[in-house]
Amino acid sequence: MSGILAILERGPGGWHRMSFEALAGALELGRATGEPVTACVPGFGVEAAAAEAAAFGPAAALALEHEALSAYAADAWIEALGALIGAMAPSWVVLPHTYQTRDFAPALAARFGRALMADCTGFVVEGGRPVFERQLFQGKLTGRFLFETPKPNFVSFQAGAFRAPQAAGQRAPVAVQRADVDPARVRQKPEAPFREAAQAVDLSSAERIVAVGRGIGDEGNLELARELAAALGAELAASRPICDNGWLPMDRQVGSSGQTVAPKLYVALGISGAIQHVVGMKGSGCIVAVNRDPQAPIFEIADYGIVGDLFEVAPALIEELKKSAG
Ligand SMILES: Cc1cc2nc3c(=O)[nH]c(=O)nc-3n(C[C@H](O)[C@H](O)[C@H](O)COP(=O)(O)OP(=O)(O)OC[C@H]3O[C@@H](n4cnc5c(N)ncnc54)[C@H](O)[C@@H]3O)c2cc1C
Repeated sequence: MSGILAILERGPGGWHRMSFEALAGALELGRATGEPVTACVPGFGVEAAAAEAAAFGPAAALALEHEALSAYAADAWIEALGALIGAMAPSWVVLPHTYQTRDFAPALAARFGRALMADCTGFVVEGGRPVFERQLFQGKLTGRFLFETPKPNFVSFQAGAFRAPQAAGQRAPVAVQRADVDPARVRQKPEAPFREAAQAVDLSSAERIVAVGRGIGDEGNLELARELAAALGAELAASRPICDNGWLPMDRQVGSSGQTVAPKLYVALGISGAIQHVVGMKGSGCIVAVNRDPQAPIFEIADYGIVGDLFEVAPALIEELKKSAG
């Protein structure tokens, strides 16, 4: 057995953003184990999507096609991917930890007598073997786990665990393969895709976020953060105490008990960087932290750190942004 099969996810609206983060995880696993990565797109009429995925660094891309895969149904996915994995015999099967993965991947792994190592935040290599990391006790502890079972090993990666790769100039070869699905074995009828409880804002798809923490001091001071967010064209988000106080609605909370986000730019104003907050935003492309405490843990993950009073720094940023806009 060899090779890494990264299973990418598409919905009616196109790619699931986490697909490319999982692909990044698979590529990193490939670099660690020396095994080639195949990006697999299950669906119907997904050749163009597989060709798109081929530009993101895998050794090969595969459109796994069947009418039964035109809309998601767990048993169709298990049939098609089960047959593919049986034939390809990869060492690793890597998935994004989406709702869809949670639905079908445990049963897919069980078909091979394996468990799914779910919701991993990354891995380290010890003694030449990947050791996967998962959060325990709401992110207070990180557990490290080794597969002791024979391959294939099934792993899903948490949102934001890896940064999505950039599209490269060259594309890997793309194959189109008809999935081996016996329609008689597909008993589920797909319904409208699951949506999370209606949220006023989907922070997970925001490109820029300005997040405020307890350093903002008072509800009335939120206006300053709103102004900075407006100047940057960003969504406003917060750490938990701000939402617990009712200063912003819960759907603006980032962290282990809030949303997981990975915008291109994350500006943290007066946020200390507690692990429960960091797990929800550490996958951001560029993290700018403003905190008056030079020892604040947020600086450990910040790309740019400003040690200072946010009530001086934020107005200065707004002024500069207005100047460059005008
Ligand atoms: C089960 C559980 C789940 C949790 N889930 C989440 C979650 O989803 N999201 C989350 O965010 N938290 C969560 N928490 C809470 C988390 O542990 C922290 O308490 C919280 O993130 C702290 O928020 P904060 O950084 O805004 O506040 P603080 O930790 O109080 O930090 C405030 C920061 O502001 C700085 N500051 C103060 N004044 C200024 C100023 N004028 N200018 C610049 N900097 C200033 C201070 O130096 C300090 O670093 C959870 C906790 C538990 C136990």
